[in-house]
Amino acid sequence: MPPHNAVEVFATCVNAVPDAVARDNYLANHDHIVKSINDYAAASQAKSWHGLPRAAWGQLDAIVVGSLTKSSLTALYTSYMAPTNMAARATYDEILVAANGKCPFCGGIGLVSTLDHYLPKSGFPLYSVLPVNLVPCCKDCNTGKSASFGISPSEQPLHPYLDDPKFFNERWVNAQVEQTNPISLKYICAPPQAWPAIERDRLLSHFEDYNLGYRFGVQSGAELAKIVDARRGSLKSLSAEGFQAYLAEGAASPGFDLNGWNRTMYYALANTPWFYNSTFALPTAGS
Ligand SMILES: [Zn+2]
Repeated sequence: MPPHNAVEVFATCVNAVPDAVARDNYLANHDHIVKSINDYAAASQAKSWHGLPRAAWGQLDAIVVGSLTKSSLTALYTSYMAPTNMAARATYDEILVAANGKCPFCGGIGLVSTLDHYLPKSGFPLYSVLPVNLVPCCKDCNTGKSASFGISPSEQPLHPYLDDPKFFNERWVNAQVEQTNPISLKYICAPPQAWPAIERDRLLSHFEDYNLGYRFGVQSGAELAKIVDARRGSLKSLSAEGFQAYLAEGAASPGFDLNGWNRTMYYALANTPWFYNSTFALPTAGS
């Protein structure tokens, strides 16, 4: 969660505007900006970001609030925060490095390379430099998702800073181990039935929007082959129970995200009897 003060970040961006008239126009709308920050905080409490005011599609010169146009609001980010020679770029970089390189949308499959606007700046230009709306993101997650934000609460992807902690602390991704050749994993979004329908729908739309089923499956392929090789080699002497315990250890590893591809893979393998009971012995020549 970025610790930055939203009003100060706005002021730093505005200070960089070279034209005095334009700069004064931003400053004259200070109260509107403060209100937008409070609105975002209230929506975060209610998990109702979808209900925040939207700007019309296109229409760069349309007034969004007070005397601020859509283009003037998005310029705060594109011209006065993101460029490396701007003072507010320090905030950008601090938010970026806080992810330790791991993209929070895909559980660290991709390396963080940019900041993503949780509420896209084209539709929600009021939040273009709001620190809690800026999330470190990998290239695939950034380019893969659509520029629009769903209009219903169930279409909201997970907010990495502000969402319900249970989405990060409880299991909602599972995998089936498929007896294909080579063995593969089929990842599924499987939130507990006891969770409210809106929450389950949100997880499903997050899983689909970021193409996690496919991307997790690709990631696990190589790792699964290594585990099978190890079972034939260095783990050969383990009993089935010992092999299952080894897999369960991977499923409990705090180094991996609970709902990430890696930990989910180990969890599925440790709960699949035909897998942990197998030695994967290769047929001997002539047999
Ligand atoms: Zn990602």
